[in-house]
Amino acid sequence: MDKNPIALTIHRGTNQIGGSCVEMATANTRILIDIGLPLDSIVKKPEDRKQYLPKIEGYFDAVFISHYHQDHHGLVSEIDPSIPVYVSAGTAKMFGINTVFLQMPKVENLRIIDTQTPVIIGDIKVTAFTVDHSAYDAMAFLIEAEGKRILYSGDIRTHGVKGVMYKNLPQDVDYLILEGTNIGKSEYKSKTEKQIKDQFVKLFKKYPDRINYVWSSGQNIDRLVQIYSASLKTGKTFVADLYVANVLHEIHQLNPKIPSPNSHPNFRVWYEKYQKLKGNENLAFRMKRFKIKSKEIAESPEKYVVIIRPTQLEYIQKINAAQANVVTSIWKQYEIMTRNESFFDWVARKGYQKNYYHTSGHADNEGLKSIVSHISPKTIIPIHTENKAMFPGLFDQVILLEDGEVFEL
Ligand SMILES: [Zn+2]
Repeated sequence: MDKNPIALTIHRGTNQIGGSCVEMATANTRILIDIGLPLDSIVKKPEDRKQYLPKIEGYFDAVFISHYHQDHHGLVSEIDPSIPVYVSAGTAKMFGINTVFLQMPKVENLRIIDTQTPVIIGDIKVTAFTVDHSAYDAMAFLIEAEGKRILYSGDIRTHGVKGVMYKNLPQDVDYLILEGTNIGKSEYKSKTEKQIKDQFVKLFKKYPDRINYVWSSGQNIDRLVQIYSASLKTGKTFVADLYVANVLHEIHQLNPKIPSPNSHPNFRVWYEKYQKLKGNENLAFRMKRFKIKSKEIAESPEKYVVIIRPTQLEYIQKINAAQANVVTSIWKQYEIMTRNESFFDWVARKGYQKNYYHTSGHADNEGLKSIVSHISPKTIIPIHTENKAMFPGLFDQVILLEDGEVFEL
């Protein structure tokens, strides 16, 4: 019996990294997968978000969010709040913390989707699979309807701490909607998170008299774990601000291996920036025993590895260490977007040593090849890339779509 087609529309993502939004519809059911803010609009004001909504019309039966990066979910609060929004437990934890600390809009009607446990929405079956990415508990989605199987990779890599997880992904699917963030960088071979940790260990050992400031994303759990572990290994105390400490504490509740100040040694919490958490004072109270002040750090700065953001300059200046290493450990693009010149001017005036230790949250060409060879899809559709034209050079059976084009699967 002939099956009906599924209408696939990539509303955004066929020509850009970030802002992904994918619609799949049968005759009876419509779902959205990711509804992200374009990267260049993330730092703009929340009230300006609406203008970045892709052209999605009408009602959706459900929305699935692959992970907590804003370029995948940043517009979810702009859609009808009665639509259920499915996320992983890790994504839900991060949403919760970010509403308090970053004033992100609360996501209504949130539902948790467990890995490898299908959810039925009308005549569409969706199964999530945990994948490795620079967001904790990121997911790929298998969509099954009308006798077809479509896998959406989300953001994925093979060189992270849990890089082998791609081997859990379903095989022999009809379509693989695959991210290609790094596909343009053909010479690019990613470092592993373990290699990043080794760089930190080496640096901390080489300069025992220096304080170490690390500018890292408070949401890049795997990176924070590497930095914490490098600190422990070199006899340093890890210091995170109240936001980062709360992020780690929340994720620790899902995975006890993730360090929390309340359960892990040599973990102190720097309160400076967050004196008031109106209505959420418990988030400050619950780790009060581990509070550290700039003054205490200033007494023997060489003992500490401090996670910072350049916007915390006034607090960092209170420590005013004579010598320091300043390590930038975030994506270059994000560094450019959020760079704070007064911080780096100050670093230069102080003569602190700058380093850049980072590895991508996205697969390199080798990684993409491993993923594709495991999945063995009949057809590949590129997304989350500025270089979709390079896919056919790497893979067979590639279909290139444009934003907004309706394609029948
Ligand atoms: Zn991402």
